Amino acid sequence: MGRISKFICPSCNMAWELPLGHGMRHATLGNVLNVFSEETRQKILADTEGEKAPVFEFNYCPAVCPQCGKMIAVPVIYLPRTGKTYVTACPDCEKEVKVFTKEDEILCPHCGEKTLQSDDVGRWD
Ligand SMILES: [Zn+2]
Ligand SMILES: [Zn+2]
Repeated sequence: MGRISKFICPSCNMAWELPLGHGMRHATLGNVLNVFSEETRQKILADTEGEKAPVFEFNYCPAVCPQCGKMIAVPVIYLPRTGKTYVTACPDCEKEVKVFTKEDEILCPHCGEKTLQSDDVGRWD
């Protein structure tokens, strides 16, 4: 089950609610592949080739798009066998995003003054 986290900037009061983690439908690689681009799909398939039950870790992670100046939740897949990690680009501007973990200090992408405060506000599955 995933969680919904709210990120708030104490300086400009900008807030983002992001669905993080993963849902039930992300338990199989086939479903997870759908969220990635065709190019990335091919890479993931090559990395897991020959594995009967491909091992992967999949989560939506908090990310900042410096181009759009906002926070988004991006799908991230980690493949332990090859040690590769794949992330999708910003859906709005298609630029590379900066991915954070929940523990990271994230500087507000809107005003750049303060680090964001986060709180779990719900769950999703
Ligand atoms: Zn963007
Ligand atoms: Zn701010």
